[in-house]
Formats: sequence, C-alpha cells, structure tokens
Amino acid sequence: MLKTDKIWMNGELVDWDDARIHVASHGLHYGSGVFEGIRCYETPRGPAIFRLREHLERFEDSARILYMDLPFGRDELRAATHELVARNGLASCYLRPMAFYGYGELSVGAQGNPVDVVILSFPWGAYLGEEGQRTGITTKISSWERIGPNVIPHAAKATGVYLNSLLATTEARRAGYDEAIMLNAEGYVADGPGENIFVVRDGRISTPPLSMSILPGITRDTIIQIAQDLGFVVEEALLIRTDLYVADEVFLCGTATEVAPVRAVDDRELGVGPVTRELQKAYLAAVNGIDERWSHWLDVVDAVHAPA
Ligand code: PMP
Repeated sequence: MLKTDKIWMNGELVDWDDARIHVASHGLHYGSGVFEGIRCYETPRGPAIFRLREHLERFEDSARILYMDLPFGRDELRAATHELVARNGLASCYLRPMAFYGYGELSVGAQGNPVDVVILSFPWGAYLGEEGQRTGITTKISSWERIGPNVIPHAAKATGVYLNSLLATTEARRAGYDEAIMLNAEGYVADGPGENIFVVRDGRISTPPLSMSILPGITRDTIIQIAQDLGFVVEEALLIRTDLYVADEVFLCGTATEVAPVRAVDDRELGVGPVTRELQKAYLAAVNGIDERWSHWLDVVDAVHAPA
C-alpha cells in the first residue's frame, strides 16, 4: 500500500509510521472492529468525498450492532476526514475509517475496553483492476456460504466479517478466477466478498434484497438511483446461481471496485453488455463530478493544504 504523511488517530494527526497499537488490543484478537471504505475523487470543484454522510451513517450503524459507543460523532468524523485529505495533499484517495475495541481486558465481551478510532487515507486504484473494469472479470461461485443475520450480522461492516470474504476471495483467486460470488445459507445469490451484484436480463435490472445476507452497499444504492434516473427498471429479486449463468449481463459494484463487468460465471461466458457499460460510465461521471445531476453526493473538501 502507498504510504501517506498522516493518519488520524483518536483525535490527532500522527505520522504514518507512528500510528501503532498494542498487540493485546481486543480488536486484533477477536475481529471486534467496524470500518468503512470511502473514495475521494478529483472533481472540477476540487477533491470531493463521495457520499461521506451515508458512509458515516453506516459506520454508526455497524458500531451500534456491536454494542460499541463511538467516542466521536458524525460531524467530528466528517471534519477529521476533510482535515486528513487536505493535510495529506491528496486530490483523490481511498479512505478507511476504523473503530475497534482497544487495549484493556482480553475478555471476549469487551466491556470496559476503550474504543480506538483511526482514519487512513492513501491512493488506491480500482480494486479488481482497470483492465477488469474495461474487459470484465471472471468469477466463481464460492464454496463458502455468506454469513447470515443470526451468525455474524452481515448488515455490519465489521472487521471479523471479513474472514468470510478472505476465504472466498482466496479460494477464487487460487482457482484462477478474479473474484468470488457468494450464496447465502438458503442458496440465494448474496454478494461478492467486497461487492454487491446486479443482473440484467431482457432490459430489466435486478439485485438481491438486503435480507439476502448482503452488505447494504452504498454503491448498490447509487447504481439503483442512477439506473432509475436513466429510465431503467430496477427490482430487488431473489436470484439463484443459474440466473447468473443465463443472464444477459452481470456486474459487481462497490466503493473500491466501482463498476466491474462480470464476463464469466463458473466458466459460462457472458461478455460485457451495453447496460453495464452505460451504468459504469454514469457512475464514473457521478463520482468524478462530471455530471451535475448527481453532484449532491459530493462532499467537497474545504481546503487543500500542502504537506508541511
Ligand atoms: N458487499 C461486501 C461484502 C463489501 O465488503 C462491500 C464493500 N464495502 C460491498 C458489498 C459494497 O459496499 P459499498 O458499495 O458501500 O462499498
């Protein structure tokens, strides 16, 4: 990963190399943290953070699910994020706020442990590659089930949840595929290890509902709104794996991934279709501040300071 100058840590900007924690920190032992993945883009109005408010809302929701009291409010975290981007002099970057139970006791319950909050910012290209965005990615249905609402809550973007994603990603990559697609315990299509999924058939766009063990993705919500603005019909639908095999188009989306066309599922070739292309183009126009229709989603960073 590319190092930047500062990391925001518990209310202060500290040097990248000094942002350390104790090895007895609860979060390290039990995956007891929550996090966000956010992007800031270089727009005609300056660096702008895409849908920061919604990301911070989800951050609060995730913490609430883990009984975690965040020591900083939404306005403080918004100001901290702006300050960090400006201080690191980044025109565009990936942002990673994280809150975790810190150093104190090692009892699993984490009662009384402090909650540490950090925000990292660093340059990060398209998660599944620029080539993948252009020519499409290959996918494999994972042998790992997506975690369920009564196992580990999928609605929380919690660090421990990502063991499920790690196993699915690693299995798919070792088998030579770009990405995994996960089914839930009932066999319905859920999401990718770090992306939500959309299917196009006969001009209709569908995506699994939130109850199918998916993360409530902010890109998913963005794509639904953009697609509707462009006149498409979007429906939430229960999908089974063969719906993917016979689809006209499939794509994955997420903050890090943006929009990645899926050109094959379990070795059934799909290619890259026009609806995916149109939505990908519109999404990139929205995040880069090129299309005014969606400019309300941009949180422009107030001032850009050169690093001292
Ligand atoms: N599903 C999972 C499992 C994810 O990790 C992510 C990435 N946060 C997404 C979907 C997409 O969410 P978002 O669009 O909010 O980045």
